[in-house]
Amino acid sequence: MPLFIHDTLRRQKVEFVPRDPKRITMYVCGPTVYNYAHIGNARPAVVFDVLYRLLRRLYPDAEVVYARNFTDVDDRINAAAIEQGVDISVITNRFAEVYEQDMAALNALPPTHAPRATAYMTEMVALIERLIQQGAAYVSEGEVLFDVPRYEANGGDYGALSGRSLDDLLAGARVEVADNKKNPADFVLWKPSKPGEPAWDGPHGLPGRPGWHIECSAMSEKVLGLPIDIHGGGHDLIFPHHTNEIAQSCAAHGAKEPEAYARYWMHNGFLDMSGEKMSKSLGNVVLVHDLVKQYPGEVIRWALLSGHYRSPLDWTPELLEQSRKNLDYLYGILRRAKAINPYEDVYSDASHVGALIDDLNTPATFSFLISAAGALELELKKGNQDGAIATKTAVLGMADILGVLQQDPDAWFEGGASDDLKATVEALIAERVAARAAKDFAAADRIRDQLTALNVVVMDGPTGATWRMKD
Ligand SMILES: [Zn+2]
Repeated sequence: MPLFIHDTLRRQKVEFVPRDPKRITMYVCGPTVYNYAHIGNARPAVVFDVLYRLLRRLYPDAEVVYARNFTDVDDRINAAAIEQGVDISVITNRFAEVYEQDMAALNALPPTHAPRATAYMTEMVALIERLIQQGAAYVSEGEVLFDVPRYEANGGDYGALSGRSLDDLLAGARVEVADNKKNPADFVLWKPSKPGEPAWDGPHGLPGRPGWHIECSAMSEKVLGLPIDIHGGGHDLIFPHHTNEIAQSCAAHGAKEPEAYARYWMHNGFLDMSGEKMSKSLGNVVLVHDLVKQYPGEVIRWALLSGHYRSPLDWTPELLEQSRKNLDYLYGILRRAKAINPYEDVYSDASHVGALIDDLNTPATFSFLISAAGALELELKKGNQDGAIATKTAVLGMADILGVLQQDPDAWFEGGASDDLKATVEALIAERVAARAAKDFAAADRIRDQLTALNVVVMDGPTGATWRMKD
């Protein structure tokens, strides 16, 4: 089944053809670990997790190798370490661990590799040395800079990924003006550390630390090998980060075509907060670490995938509420279908990929999932065993690539409730059903209040009342 993805480099939807059908590689730029991740940072982690799951389903005979890095060298990390009087590793280890836990709560599978920049200094220094030797980079006042016009003179197309010319890029960007730069577009590969900051042995015997862009070029090459099949990240990384990754990696290997570094580029859109940009000054920054305490991870995941990954996503309380309702509906049907055993190949059958092969169309696939669940409900009502097995297989097969409905349906509704509490709740619900049948609505309301006091939410539906513990 062919997979179509929107390639930022070609600016259109293209068929994905792996370089090696036995080994598919994907690199996604990960977080800088100096603080808690905000919800916008979780979007690429979840989007590319769906792609990772999809690739594994579409290419069952291939090894799908997924790398997502941690940037653990950065000015903001240094600042946090100095402020707290600790080594940078204390900060980076802590926030990398929190990030991994939070992404796991969103059902994002751990990537095959999670390289940390500090563990790849040798590779970065070697890559920079190589660029200097080839005349693609130069040393100036203790820094090593990449020579952008030289790259273009050698046939490289610096604006290929962004689709903009060098002049355009410079006009629109906050380019650091520095006396030691030959050209305004040149960017830092290596720089000296300030006193008190960590430093490593660098190229040309220059102690210091790497620039951000060279980290991903060195780590992706070492961990995955070049060219990478798919390189992904947030839309804001197209320029300068990914543009510079291409320039460095191509120049180091004497390549002119950007495909020599990565064959397909995918970028996810921004996330807005109820129509506003997320920013500290507006006080609307939402941290994943807080959100996973308020909502089940699957609700957050559903909300993140409810829009197409390339479009902006407006993050609102209503979006979370609707995502919760959709999951309650689906889990309710799965609970009623508990006795139905799906076909054995439910997690390997590539036929249940919904609209994901059309550039990861998650909203359409959620619609398919809801329809398939509705069909399952119908088969259950008709008592059609074969139909129920087939539809449940479709529901679970699709849900697994989307990374939702991964819990036991009872646990979804009753999560955390003790057996005693469950018995009490069931008894109260039965009393309430009886009261309503007898048209004693005052009694029914009283029982509902009792349930609310127990932190239980009752949901009345066409097939009776279900309940769940309040978050
Ligand atoms: Zn990167």
